[in-house]
Amino acid sequence: MSEIDPSTLIIKIVLVGDSLVGKTCILKQFCDHEFDPELGATIGVDFRFHTIQIQNKQIQLQIWDTAGQEVFRSITHNYYRNADAVMVVFDITNENSFKGLDEWFKNISEKAPKYAKKMLMANKKDLISQRFLSEDEAKKFAKNFDCLYCEVSAKTGENIYEAFQTLTSETLKDY
Ligand code: GDP
Ligand code: MG
Repeated sequence: MSEIDPSTLIIKIVLVGDSLVGKTCILKQFCDHEFDPELGATIGVDFRFHTIQIQNKQIQLQIWDTAGQEVFRSITHNYYRNADAVMVVFDITNENSFKGLDEWFKNISEKAPKYAKKMLMANKKDLISQRFLSEDEAKKFAKNFDCLYCEVSAKTGENIYEAFQTLTSETLKDY
């Protein structure tokens, strides 16, 4: 966490998870309130800034997104450097993306700062009929990894703002 001036906190959040789980759409929905189904993998940017309000304070989030390098379920130290929080995303309709989480948490434990807060995010909640595991099962899994848990839809926008707000509040507790 760094400070530009005493009233502006910048918190770095990194997004990780398998390709196609919806990381870029989550970021787009959060920052632009838009869902673009045509969004290509090539549009990946390093990071975006977005301000949220928590208890009357403006907090600047610097949110990092991957641009294809997640295919190997391993991301560099550089990406995680100084991260205050990590959002680990899986797709509620894709069991493989859930099975890959062990590898993601291993990658995080090796490369992310120890103090970084973690949130497991189940995306594509709008495709409820295709979900392969219950909310309870997923919550239990998240608890094992000392993670917050939330279910969102980048398509409808459901819970997206709340998820970032919860993770940011949790991060701010240490300051
Ligand atoms: P990334 O590789 O993790 O960045 O995934 P993308 O954000 O590129 O999304 C992958 C695909 O999933 C795209 O075809 C999106 O349109 C679709 N997608 C992303 N989020 C949602 C969602 O919440 N619901 C539905 N139905 N589709 C989604
Ligand atoms: Mg992407």
